[in-house]
Parts: sequence; C-alpha cells; structure tokens
Amino acid sequence: MKPPRAADDTPDAIPGHLPVAGPRQVRRAALHFIRQDRRTFVAMIVLNALAAAAGLVGPWLVGRIINAVKDGGGVAAVDRLALGILVGAVAQLLLTRHARYLAHRFGERTLARIREQFVDRALALPASAVERAGAGDLTARGTTDVMTAGQTLRDTGPDVFVAAVQALFILGAVLLLDPLLGACGVLGLTGIWFATRWYLRRARSAYLDQGAAHSVLAEALSATATGARTVEALGLRDLRIADSEEKIERCVSARDRTLFLRSVLFPSIDVSYAIPVVAVLLVGGALHEHGQVSLGTVVASALYLRQLSQPLDTILQQVEQLQSSSASFARVEGLAAAPTRSTGPADTGEADSAPAPDHIPKDDRIDVQRVRFAYGDGVDVLRGVDLSVRPGERLAIVGPSGAGKSTLSRLLAGIDAPGKGMVTVGGVPIADLTPDRLRRQVVLVTQEHHVFLGSVRDNLLIAAEQATDTELRAALTAVGADWSDGLAAGLDTELGPGGHQLHGAQAQQLALARVVLADPHTVILDEATALLDPTTARHTERALATVLRGRTVIAIAHRLQTAHDADRVAVMEDGRVTELGTHDDLVAADGAYAELWHSWHGDRPRPASS
Ligand code: ADP
Repeated sequence: MKPPRAADDTPDAIPGHLPVAGPRQVRRAALHFIRQDRRTFVAMIVLNALAAAAGLVGPWLVGRIINAVKDGGGVAAVDRLALGILVGAVAQLLLTRHARYLAHRFGERTLARIREQFVDRALALPASAVERAGAGDLTARGTTDVMTAGQTLRDTGPDVFVAAVQALFILGAVLLLDPLLGACGVLGLTGIWFATRWYLRRARSAYLDQGAAHSVLAEALSATATGARTVEALGLRDLRIADSEEKIERCVSARDRTLFLRSVLFPSIDVSYAIPVVAVLLVGGALHEHGQVSLGTVVASALYLRQLSQPLDTILQQVEQLQSSSASFARVEGLAAAPTRSTGPADTGEADSAPAPDHIPKDDRIDVQRVRFAYGDGVDVLRGVDLSVRPGERLAIVGPSGAGKSTLSRLLAGIDAPGKGMVTVGGVPIADLTPDRLRRQVVLVTQEHHVFLGSVRDNLLIAAEQATDTELRAALTAVGADWSDGLAAGLDTELGPGGHQLHGAQAQQLALARVVLADPHTVILDEATALLDPTTARHTERALATVLRGRTVIAIAHRLQTAHDADRVAVMEDGRVTELGTHDDLVAADGAYAELWHSWHGDRPRPASS
C-alpha cells in the first residue's frame, strides 16, 4: 500500500481515505492556533528571551574573573563578580520556570481547541466518508494522533522553543564577545546543520511509512482475531499467518529505515559538538599568544560553545518527536479538507471552499436523473436510474437482493451523493442542502435505531432543536410511546448504558418520534419493520401509519403487500429501474413484477384486510 505522503501544498486524497494535510496546511493551521492565544505566546517568547539572557551572564562573568585575577584584581572584585554569577543563575531559574508555566498553559488551551475543532469536523463528515475510510481511521486520528500532537504542544514544543531561544542567544553572545572567535564557533557547527538537513529530508516520509505499516499490521491482526472462527472453519490459518508475517516484515523494514536515519544523525551530532570548542581553543590560543584577545574572552567563548550543546541536544533529541507529531497533526488537520455533509470541502481557508448558500427547494418533488453510483472504486451498483416521486404519493421499490434498492434510498436521503446524474428535491440537488434543511425534506428510517447517550429530551431534540417539551411529548404520544409517561424523571430520564434501557420497539418509537419532530415531507422506509417480531411489527406499523400520514412515502418493500397497497411500484434489477407503474398496470404488463406477484400470491393468499 502506498504510504499517505503529502505533497507540499495539496492535501493528500487517496480515494476512500480521509485526507492528510500537506506541510503548507499544517503551517497555516499551527499559525492559526498561535494567533488564537497570541498574548500568552508573546509573553512566553519575552520570558524565554529574558531567561536566555540571564543564562549568558555566567560565562561572561567567568571570563571577567579570569581577566581580573590575571590583572591582579583583589578578592573583593572576584567576590562581586561571583555574586553576579549567582544572581544571573537565580534569575534564569525563575524566568525559565514562569516561561515554562506559560508554555504549558498555552499547550493545554491549544490542545483543547484542536480537540473541539476535530469533533466539529468529524461530526460534519458525511456518514459515507466515514464508512469508506473506516471508523478506525477516524478514531485513531481523534485519539492517538490528537494525543501525540498534544504532547508536543504541552512538553516537546515548549522545550524545543526554549532551547532554540537559548541557542540563538548563546550564538549572539559569542559573536559579540569576539566576532572572529564567534565565527570559528559557528563554522564548527555547520556539520550539525548538514546532518540534520540530511535527516529531516528523509524523516517525514520514513515516519509516515512506519505509521502506515503499523496501521496495516494492526488491522490485519484484529481482522484475524475477530474472524478467528471463520479462519478456523475454513482452514485459513496458514494463509493468515503468512499474511501477518508479511505485514510484520514491512513494519520491521519501515522501523529499520527510521533506525538507520537516527544512527547516522546522532553520532554525527556528537562529533559536531566538539568541533567548535576545539576550533575556538586553537584559534583563541593563537590570538592570545599574539595579544589580540584576553584569556577571559577565550575561556568565555569556549564556555558558551560548550553550553550550546545543551539546547542543541534538546532540539535534536526532540526532532524525532516533532517529526512524528507533525505527521499526527497533518492527519488531524486532514479533516479540514474532507468533504462535509452540505458545504463541500470543509474550512481550509480557501475561497473556493466557502459554505454553499442555503438553497431552498421550490416544492416537494423528488427527481432522480440518470444517476450512477459506485462504492469506492468498485463497479457501478446504480447504472442509470431515472425516477420522479410526486408529492404525497406512496412509491414502493421492489427487486431482488443486491439490485441497489438500499443504495438508492441512501442517495434519496442525501447520505451518499451520486457519482453521475442528479438527485434533486424541488429542483435543488439534495447534496446542496444544509443538514437542517435536509432533515425537513427527507428522512430515512431503517431498522437501526440508535439511542444516543443522554436524556430522552436530548434524543428527541436532535431532530428539532427548537421543539418545546409539549411538542416532544406530543411526538411521543403520536407514535404510541406510552411508556414515556411512566419514566421517573420524564423527559430528563437518562438513556443508554448506566441509564434507563429501552428495548427494541421502544427505541424504534423514539426514532419515529424524531421523524414526527423533523416533520419532513418525504419519508423513506428501508426494512423498517423487517426484523421485528410480528407483535412489535404490528405496533410499529400503527405508529408508522401515524407518522406517514400526509407525507410522501418511498418504501423499500420486502413484502409484496406493501407494493400492492402503494400508488406506484418501481422494480429495480441490476442497478436500474426496469418497471414502473401501478400494481395493476404492472401485473397486466406481465413482466418481472407480475412474475414476483404471481409466485408470492400463489404461495400465500393475500390477507382479506387489504
Ligand atoms: P438491495 O438493497 O437491493 O439489496 P444494495 O443497495 O444493498 O441492494 O446493494 C447493491 C450492491 O451494492 C450490492 O452488490 C452490494 O453488495 C453493494 N453494496 C451495498 N452496500 C455497500 C457498501 N457499503 N460498500 C460496498 N458495496 C456495497
């Protein structure tokens, strides 16, 4: 598999994967977060600069002491200078401590902002994008990647930042003390620059590759574990072991690569530290011989350059963490470029991604025109569907399993967007509707009834944020959810694990109450009652009848009775609508529907109640 490498200015978009932000997006996002907490950031820089300046006092005064002793200065002068060293050290300690405190606060607050933004963006993703990319990817980005980026913000980032300021000040001090000696020191450091540049050029892709290899291995191992029974039953053991071994090998070679990069970097750095000190001592010694610099200046310069190794070490040791967290941050920020449910690409800051205006459908008519659709890179499962649904009509869609009925219902509900062609409501492409407006147009009811963690009220307000308690109770009554009257805390009763547990039919009523509250003109029913036991199904059907009254209904029909009762029937076969008309017309036409009807009708007499 190709590792998710990012180009410089465009987010990576492997079809079906969530995008990864390119370095430019990452920089822009980082600047955006800094701007949001500008004052703390500036205070942090100022304090760090002061702390670094205080740190320069020591070596400079040591140089002065040497010169003083050499010139035969008294003990009192040396004591004064030594006291100065102490004051400098204490000041540096206090300033560093406060700077670090500010840095941590900045890190924590920014981390909170990143988390909030991530949640907002994750919630704006179309369900289809998450399904295709795999919920695991989104979870990994929201947990491990956010944590890694957070650790950098809280600890690594401030450490590196402090070290960078110190290093700059020390270099400045050496150059001020004696430009020639300073230049020797800086020249001696160039080895570090080359080694680091060599490393950084290779590290990003190597670490992204390592991350990708780990994900692939984790996925393969968990697939083997969850499918253990199947693996056993089909005798796939050896195949799975071979597959895992191959993925482990890829992991090992990816790790070997990053290890190699480090094993070149660190020794080169160690050698590079000694070079400037040696250079200053050699050149300084010669200059001192000729009386061009004082001994104190040579010692102070050597001490400064020696001191430089500490901040440089911090920076270099953390480069690895910075690398891996910049890859993590790129994955977290990648969501900015993912499509959102209603506004196209999310807020990447580009002019072309501004939210689309809220289009208003002119009526309730749904039109499907020449629609083609494929899951991911697969073959088209809808292959040119044309269909018009008139307001108020009841349309049944029938056809063999795999014909594309559920897929069509997802497109009609705006969950997936067609690859080619259009699905419009009142002349507006469904994909252009905001989630709010879409909810008032079309709602898909399936057999999955999710009860959200929260109160009964929370569970209902999802469908209509502004609804009053009276409206919520009326919706529950409309779907026959009488049990809700008996709840101890009424609408405040907490649902889900640890709270009040709803059984299947109650959860379904809650879902139907949400439909009543959303009040869409069109309801799509996909296997809404297929899996329920007959008593529950009867209950639900009564509730459904109430919910559906006065609305356009598109039903994926599993029982031909539903088709018989509908105004029109669409027959789907192999990704196309092959027959469309009233039940009577289609039976008279003697095509696929007539055949289905006769075989069903022949086996099981129709209930008289129809
Ligand atoms: P129906 O509802 O008529 O049984 P579906 O719309 O569920 O048909 O499926 C149509 C085709 O699309 C089938 O071949 C099915 O395997 C495929 N399909 C359905 N859902 C997905 C999915 N999430 N990913 C990939 N293929 C899918």
